Amino acid sequence: MSQPGIPASGGSSTGLQAQNGAASASGSPYTNGPVQNALMSSQVSVSQGYNSQLPGSYPHLIPAKTLNPVSGQSNSGGSQTVSPLSNYQGPGQALYGPPVASHPVTPSLHSGPSPQMPLPTSQNPAATPMPSGSFLPGASVSSPSNWQYNYLSQTNHCPRASSQPTMTGNTNLMSPQYVSSGDSSLQNNIIKSGIISNTNNGSMVVHNNYDEIEGGGFLATSQPTTKNPTMSRSVGYSYPSLPPGYQNTAPPSTTGAGLPPSSLNYPSGPQAFTQTPLGANHLTSSMSGLSLHPEGLRVINLLQERNMLPSTPLQPPVPNLHEDIQKLNCNPELFRCTLTSIPQTQALLNKAKLPLGLLLHPFKDLVQLPVVTSSTIVRCRSCRTYINPFVSFLDQRRWKCNLCYRVNDVPEEFMYNPLTRVYGEPHRRPEVQNATIEFMAPSEYMLRPPQPPVYLFVFDVSHNAIETGYLNSVCQSLLDNLDLLPGNTRTKIGFITFDSTIHFYSLQEGLSQPQMLIVSDIEDVFIPMPENLLVNLNESKELVQDLLKTLPQMFTKTLETQSALGPALQAAFKLMSPTGGRMSVFQTQLPTLGVGALKPREEPNQRSSAKEIHLTPSTDFYKKLALDCSGQQVAVDLFLLSGQYSDLASLGCISRYSAGSVYYYPSYHHQHNPIQVQKLEKELQRYLTRKIGFEAVMRIRCTKGLSIHTFHGNFFVRSTDLLSLPNVNPDAGYAVQMSVEESLTDTQLVSFQSALLYTSSKGERRIRVHTLCLPVVSTLNEVFLGADVQAISGLLANMAVDRSVTASLSDARDALVNAVIDSLSAYRSSALSNQQPGLMVPFSLRLFPLFVLALLKQKSFQTGTNARLDERIFAMCQVKNQPLVYLMLTTHPSLYRVDNLSDEGAISINDRTIPQPPILQLSVEKLSRDGAFLMDAGSVLMLWVGRNCGQNFLSQVLGVENYALIPQTMTDLPELDTPESARTIAFISWLREQRPFYPILYVIRDESPMKANFLQNMVEDRTESALSYYEFLLHIQQQVNK
Ligand SMILES: [Zn+2]
Repeated sequence: MSQPGIPASGGSSTGLQAQNGAASASGSPYTNGPVQNALMSSQVSVSQGYNSQLPGSYPHLIPAKTLNPVSGQSNSGGSQTVSPLSNYQGPGQALYGPPVASHPVTPSLHSGPSPQMPLPTSQNPAATPMPSGSFLPGASVSSPSNWQYNYLSQTNHCPRASSQPTMTGNTNLMSPQYVSSGDSSLQNNIIKSGIISNTNNGSMVVHNNYDEIEGGGFLATSQPTTKNPTMSRSVGYSYPSLPPGYQNTAPPSTTGAGLPPSSLNYPSGPQAFTQTPLGANHLTSSMSGLSLHPEGLRVINLLQERNMLPSTPLQPPVPNLHEDIQKLNCNPELFRCTLTSIPQTQALLNKAKLPLGLLLHPFKDLVQLPVVTSSTIVRCRSCRTYINPFVSFLDQRRWKCNLCYRVNDVPEEFMYNPLTRVYGEPHRRPEVQNATIEFMAPSEYMLRPPQPPVYLFVFDVSHNAIETGYLNSVCQSLLDNLDLLPGNTRTKIGFITFDSTIHFYSLQEGLSQPQMLIVSDIEDVFIPMPENLLVNLNESKELVQDLLKTLPQMFTKTLETQSALGPALQAAFKLMSPTGGRMSVFQTQLPTLGVGALKPREEPNQRSSAKEIHLTPSTDFYKKLALDCSGQQVAVDLFLLSGQYSDLASLGCISRYSAGSVYYYPSYHHQHNPIQVQKLEKELQRYLTRKIGFEAVMRIRCTKGLSIHTFHGNFFVRSTDLLSLPNVNPDAGYAVQMSVEESLTDTQLVSFQSALLYTSSKGERRIRVHTLCLPVVSTLNEVFLGADVQAISGLLANMAVDRSVTASLSDARDALVNAVIDSLSAYRSSALSNQQPGLMVPFSLRLFPLFVLALLKQKSFQTGTNARLDERIFAMCQVKNQPLVYLMLTTHPSLYRVDNLSDEGAISINDRTIPQPPILQLSVEKLSRDGAFLMDAGSVLMLWVGRNCGQNFLSQVLGVENYALIPQTMTDLPELDTPESARTIAFISWLREQRPFYPILYVIRDESPMKANFLQNMVEDRTESALSYYEFLLHIQQQVNK
C-alpha cells in the first residue's frame, strides 16, 4: 500500500517521519523503534540497526512511515503491540543474546549530543515537528526540498577484534565457548540431520540420522567415538555432543549463561585445521590486486551522448569481489544494494549523496532452492546470524560470524557433510555454499502448532457490485482453482457477503445446501455459529462449489445500495482470529454504513495539481483493524473494482499494515470493460494458486557498523526491526534504508542477511535465508563506480511515496530532482578530476537522470494529468509493494520494434528460437507509422500498430487483411502458420514466462483509447506539463554547474 501511514498526530506538516518513529529534529536521538529495556542499549550496535544517534547537524529527516500502531506505522512505544509473534525466536532475538565479550558494545562511541538511548516515552514519532527534509546531508541541507539519506556524518573509529583474522593475541575470543543462551534448546535434538539440495520443487530428500553421520568418513584426526547425547540433553546445551577435542572435558557449567564467555575457555585448543577455509579472510586478501572495470571508469557527457540506454535489459552491477566470493553471492533479483561498494564511513556516504539501502524480493518463486533439514540450525551465538557462505572458518571447529565477528563453535553435527558424506569439512556444507537457502525449522521456531491454511472471501453484493458483474468472474475463478489453492488436508475456507447487512454461509458437512445467515446488526457484529462458517475444504467441497455456483445469482435483484464494509471486515476478523489466514476482500464502492464509512473527497478539478490532494487516510479505522489482524496472523488482500472514487488511500491501509496486497480495477464492468475482466481473471488465477506463507516474520541483519533505519513495503514493524507478515507472497518486494553508524575502515567486506520465518501451506515451519556480501571502499570514485542505478531509483521511489504523504507531492518531486542534482554535483566537485563543460556523469549513473525523469512521469508522481486519485494511490501502493524489477518496468518500460523480427541474435530455449530485438529509447522519434512496436510495462504489454504498418505484419502476425480490420479490442495474437507469427508469439511468450503473473497484451490502433497510455510512457518526450529528457538534462546541468 502506498503511504497511508501519515504522521498520525499531525505533528509535522512538512517533517518526515522516520519510519520507526523517533526521528526527530537535530540533536535528538533517533531510533528504529521501541526501546524495550535497558538490555537493548548494551546490544545496540550489534548490526541490527536498533538505534542510531542523530547528530545535530541535520535538521532534515527521511520520509518514512510513522510507527504509532494506532496512528502511525508501527509501534513506537514498543509495548503497545504485544502479540505472540514478538516471542518468536526465528530470525530474531539477536538483541537479547549475551554480549560479545571480545568487543563489548559501547553505544557511547557516538559523539552525538544526545543520550545513548531515548526513553520509550520520548519516541512518539509525530511528537517532534521536523522541517522538511533534505534528501542529502551536508551542503544542501538548506534546500527545503531535498532529502537526506543518512543521519550520521561523523563516524567513529571503533577498533574491533573482528578485524583480526587470526587467533593471535586473542585466545579468549577464539577459544570455543559454550555459552548457554536463552534459546539453546534449539539444538537439543540430536536425532536427525538430513539435507536436501537443489531439488526442483524445493523439497528435501535425504534423511540422515545421527548414526549415519557418525558412520561417515572421518577426515579429522580424532573421531567422535563417544558421543553422549544424553549428557548433552541433560545439561541443556545446544550441541548434541562435544567436539572430538573435548571429549573428556567436563561440559560447560550450566551457569555459563551468566558468565562472560571468556571464563568458559576450554583447556585445550582445537586441532590444527589443514583444509583451506572458504571464507572472507582467505579471499579478501586477494582482492587488493583486482583492477576496476575500465568501462565503469568512463566519464560520460550526457549532453553529447544522448542514447545511453543499452539495447539489452540493464544488468545490475557486479560487486567488485574476488570471483570465489562473488560466485557464492546472492542473486541480485532476490537481494541487492543501492551501492555495490559500501562506503567505509558515513562521511564518505554523505559525500556521494546517494541513498544507501537494500531492495529485497525474499519470497520470489525459485526454480532451485536448497532446503536443509537438520536438527541443528547453526547460528551465531551473539547476533543470531545464520551460518552462510561469507563466514570465516578459523579452523575446522570454529567459525567467525561475518556480521558481529563473534567466534562460534562448529557443532559436531555440522562437521558431517551429508552431500559428500564426508566428515570434517563444515565449510562445504550446503549452508556455507549457498547464499540462498531454506531450513526446515524445528519446533523451537514455533509458538503454536503451524496454522492451517485458511482462506476467507468477503464479497460486496450491493447493487453497485452486482451491476459490475464481477461476482461471476470471481466465483468462476474460484471454482476453477479450488483444487489448486495451496494447502493440505487441513485447509479451511469460508465466505461472507455484505451490503447493508452481513451474510454468513454455513457450509457444515452434511448439509444438503449452503445455509445463509443474515446479521443485520452492524453496530455490534457477532458471528452466528462460528464453527460452521470456516470449514474444511475437503470435507465440504461440494457445498463450497454449490455456493460458488449460486452466489452470482443470489443477489441479481438487489436494490440495496449501501455498503457496510467496515462491519463486514470486523466480522471477518472475528471469524479468522482463532487461526489466522488470508482474507480476500472484494469491494466496488465507497463504504457508506457503519464503522469505516467514508465520504467522497476527490475534487476532479484538482487532479492535475501537485498540491492539496488526499493521499492520507481519512480515518484510522482501516489501519487499526489491520493491526488487529496482524496480531492474529490475518492478512487482508483488497480487490477494489470501482468506477468511482473509493478512497483507496483509506481502504488500502487494511492491506498495507496487515501485509496484504491491493488490486485495483478501475471501471470494472463485465460487458463494457472486457479488458479489465480479462485482467481480473488472469490476476486471480495467479493470486489463488501462488505460493503463500502464513504467520511469517522477517528480519534483516547487517554487519556491525551498518544500521537499518527505515523499512518500505506492506507489513507491520514489530519489536524494533522484526517485520510482521501474517501472509507472505512471492510477488511482494521490500526496501530498507541504511546508514553507516560506525567506521568500517577495518573491514573489507560487509554482509546483509534476511531471514524469513513462515509456515508453508503444507504446515511446515520454514526459514528462508538470503545473504549478500559486498566490499567496503574508501574512495568516492569507488562508491560511484559501484552505484546500482536501478536499485537507487527504486529506493528513491519508495522514499518519494513517503514524502508525498508526509509532505506533498511537489515536495517529493523536488526531492527526486534534487537527488540527481546533488549526486552529480558531488561527483563533479569531488570525484571528477578533469573539469569540463557538459553534464559529466560516471558510467554507473548514466541512466540516473533518465530514470528519475521516468519516475516524475510515473503515475504516482506525475502532475498535469487528469489521473484519478485512486489510480495515483494505487500506483503508489505498487511502488511500495513491487519487487524492483517490476517497479522499473512500470516506470521505464522496454520498447521493441516487432514488425521486422529476425532470427539474428536470437536465443534458443528448449528448441524454441526467441528473437531478441533491441530495446529502444522511449521517444516517439523511435516510432514509425510503418512499423509495430511492443512496449513491455511489466504487468501489461502494449502492441502499437502504425497506420501504415506493412501488410506482411498485418496478415502474417495479426491475421487481418488491412489496418481497418484490426479489432478495437484485441488482446491475443492468433497463432498463424507463418514464421512471422511464430517469432512474434515466441518473443511475447518469452517475456511472459519471465514473470510469475500473466501480463495482458493490448493491440493498439492509432485511434484506440489505449494509445494515450502507450504514449504516456514515452518518457523522453516533452509533454504539456513535463520536460523532455534533453530539457531535463539541461536543467540538471545548470544546477550542477552552479
Ligand atoms: Zn554474529
